[in-house]
Order: sequence, then C-alpha cells, then structure tokens
Amino acid sequence: MATSFGSKQVMTGGCRFCGARLRHTFVDLGMSPLANTYVTSAQLNHMEPFYPLHVYVCERCFLVQLEEFASPEHIFSDYAYFASYSDTWLRHAQRYVEMAIERFGLDNHSHVVEIASNDGYLLQYFVAKGIPALGIEPAANVAETAIQKGIPTRVEFFGEGMAQCLVAEGVQADLVVGNNVLAHVPKLNDFVRGLKILLKPHGVITLEFPHLLCLMAENQFDTIYHEHFSYFSLTTVEKVFAAHGLTLFDVEELPTHGGSLRIYLSDAEDTSKAVSPRVIDLRAREEAAGLRCLESYRSYAERVKETKRKLLAFLITAKCEGKSLVGYGAPAKGNTLLNYCGIRTDFIDYTVDRSPHKQGHLLPGTHIPIYHPDTVKETMPDYLLILPWNLVDEITEQMGYIREWGGQFVVPIPEVRVLP
Ligand SMILES: [Zn+2]
Repeated sequence: MATSFGSKQVMTGGCRFCGARLRHTFVDLGMSPLANTYVTSAQLNHMEPFYPLHVYVCERCFLVQLEEFASPEHIFSDYAYFASYSDTWLRHAQRYVEMAIERFGLDNHSHVVEIASNDGYLLQYFVAKGIPALGIEPAANVAETAIQKGIPTRVEFFGEGMAQCLVAEGVQADLVVGNNVLAHVPKLNDFVRGLKILLKPHGVITLEFPHLLCLMAENQFDTIYHEHFSYFSLTTVEKVFAAHGLTLFDVEELPTHGGSLRIYLSDAEDTSKAVSPRVIDLRAREEAAGLRCLESYRSYAERVKETKRKLLAFLITAKCEGKSLVGYGAPAKGNTLLNYCGIRTDFIDYTVDRSPHKQGHLLPGTHIPIYHPDTVKETMPDYLLILPWNLVDEITEQMGYIREWGGQFVVPIPEVRVLP
C-alpha cells in the first residue's frame, strides 16, 4: 500500500494501489519540467527543474502510474489552470448539474461536495438552484476566485483526515463530485477512504477522469504529466473502489479530454442501486482491447516514438518550405508534447491562450512565449498547431478567420494532420 504523502517515497513502496513492485515501463517520455509551471521573463536566467516522466504499469492490478513526481504542495501552490476559461467545459458542467439534480432528486435539503472544485466552474450551477454546496480546492489562488463568486470553498487537500474533520462538523454528502482529480491523487488509498467516509449511506459519488483505453487507442501520450500520477481503466478503478467498500454501479463514456469515464459509486451496503449493463459492456470491451494483459501495455511505447517522428517530419518540411507556425493554447498536455518532441521557437514562433493568467509567460522547458489570441491576426501564420486538441471544434470556430489568409489548422494527436 502507499505509505506517505507529498514526497517521492510513495512510489518506492511499489504500486500506488496494491503495493506490488513496479518493473514494467508503459512509456518513458524523458525528463520534463512540471507542466503547469509557466515561466516569467524574470525567471529566464534561473535554473528550471526537470523531472523524469517515466510511466510504469503494475503487473498485478494494471494501474498505470508515474514513478516519480514533485510534491502536490509544490504543484498546487500557484496553479495556473482556471476551469472557467473553457466554454466547452462550462457547458459540460452545467449539463452534469441538471442531470444530477434530476437523477438523484437533489433539493435544498441535500448537500453536494466537490473535491478539486477549482474556480467554482461547476458548483456555481448547484448554488444557483439553491442546493447547498461545498468546494474543496488545494490551490489557494484558484479557490479565491470561487469564494468571490459566493461558493463556500476550503483550501485543503482532500483525504481520510479531512473527511473525518468534515463528518465531525456534521458535513456528509448526498453527492460527492470529483472531476479530473483522481488521477492527481498521490495517496490513492487515503483519498478513496476519505470519499467513503464523506458519503451518506445512500449517497452517490461521481468521478470523471481520462480513460486509459482512449489514452492507448488514440495515442494521447501528451496527457501524461507529473500532476497525473495514475491512469485508470474501468477494470482497475473498479478494483480500487471495491477494496474500500464502494460499488461501481454505472459508467458513462464522455468525449471530454479526448475520452473520459464518469463512474458512479455507492456504498457497498447500499443495495438500492442496480449495476448498469453499461458497466458489464465496458468491462468486456476493455478485456477485448487487451487491458487485462501485460503485453498490451508494454507495446505502447513504440507507437509514441513513431508519433514523435511523424510530427517532427511535418514541422521540418513546413519550415524548409518557408512556412510560419504558431501554437494555439498553453495547456499542460502541450508542454508534455513540446518537451518530449524538442519543439521550441525553432519551429513554433509563439503560442496564444485566452487565459490572462498565462499571457506574458513562457511555456516551461521550451520557453515558447504565450500571447493574447489577437496576436495571430497581426502575424498571419501559415499553420496554427492546436495543442488542446480536445477543444478542436471550439478553437477552429473561434479562430476560423485564419482561413482568410490561407492559414490552416494542424492537430498533433493521435497523429499529425492538417485539417481540411
Ligand atoms: Zn498494483
């Protein structure tokens, strides 16, 4: 079992879930800086820490996981990701809230708790309906934005200890929401024990996280970065929760982040919720895709190398033809891709991002400058490389005007392609 929190010791004990020794590489992306540590021009002459981005698969439970990481306290001390800057993500959150209120019969006597509530992008919709809500968010600067919107938020890391404190204060949840947090948890078993403690006997937990099946099938290796400690299949996540007395009774496959799962969990003693046929169906598809077989995981790395070679071949050809390239977006996944492939301002002049928290900074490692999206109008590049490829529809609509001067969109994943 995982033993300690906030340092590299967690992994030297073995698999984050089952404790087995980790001997098999899933993919090794080399040394990379922390994906969300954007660099200011004042920091340019400083050293920049790089950490191994070496992912292992556990031969016993098939949990795909990072061996080394920087402490969560360091990662989240000044976090640059504000969920509310993506329209697509806000609509996703709003639809979820409407569904949850209806399906679970939530009203002003219910209590919703969201773990990693970010800037209140989701809880704002519960609050607007008069449903009591509490956010838990470790990044103080992001939590402050939520508090200003009137969403009660505690600046803390969630785990067993915090759950016990909440229960002692009389807080238990009818619905616990955790979107894109499970992968970020270093001390997985402690976190899951906390969820179980926080849940009312007939309550429901829903968690969303990127689906390992999509990461493998769609070649989304750029979603691997130091903040993502674990990569889950349904097969493995079900085992993790069952070990802590929680039953996975439903699952949805969502298009978010290139393919995510939303799992529904209840207390194992709560017999009021039947297991959905969707769970049985997905279990079978994962097995058919080889997710219960070590060799499937071990063959992944070669595809990643091939993707790098093809992307570099495209960029080299474009530059030889005198074409200009800029990036769109400064997401964490872009930083993995650019660092792994060694793409700096020799290929990409700059990138742009809608978040004012990123504008004026440079990407970690590659030091590609981040500007306001209007810069694209001024420089009229031939190609716009879309780094947050999961938002390609939103971005091609917003930036469609590049076609006026013959500009074209390029998507790097699953393989480099120029959009028609
Ligand atoms: Zn394991």
